Amino acid sequence: MSGDVEQRVGLGIDFHRFASGRPLILGGVRIPFDKGLLGHSDADVLLHAISDALLGAASLGDIGLHFPDSDPHFKGADSAHLLQSVVEMIEANGWQVGNVDTVIIAEAPKLAAHVSAIRERIAQLLKVSADQVGVKATTREQMGSLGRGEGMAAQCVAFIRRSLP
Ligand code: MG
Repeated sequence: MSGDVEQRVGLGIDFHRFASGRPLILGGVRIPFDKGLLGHSDADVLLHAISDALLGAASLGDIGLHFPDSDPHFKGADSAHLLQSVVEMIEANGWQVGNVDTVIIAEAPKLAAHVSAIRERIAQLLKVSADQVGVKATTREQMGSLGRGEGMAAQCVAFIRRSLP
């Protein structure tokens, strides 16, 4: 073994609109709020952005390819399970997660009190420690559809590495 290491970064972004009568699941954690996110799965916008960043880093496509919303199998799917499948896919190609950093964009709810639980849950799903997971939140300063509180967005950059034979 030469000891050479291959390193990659990937980018993920996702959007979901709010709907009443649904739970708000963010980073695999249920957040108390009067609305949830609408989607074919549980619409966990943060785990979707992380999944896409990891798949992109490993050149393995995107979550729409692996978990199509036209497939009834994924209706109401727990996005934590989808992310675990993504981690298995990248591991099967020899990759390990180095770190992820994320930003949630929403006018509401306030997320500061939930950030540490979200980081812990993501770390568990990625099989890394919480200090390898960044979770930040910002608003759109009332500009545009997100600024009117119509939904949420999330972005992620992921760093992965593998040893070369
Ligand atoms: Mg999504």
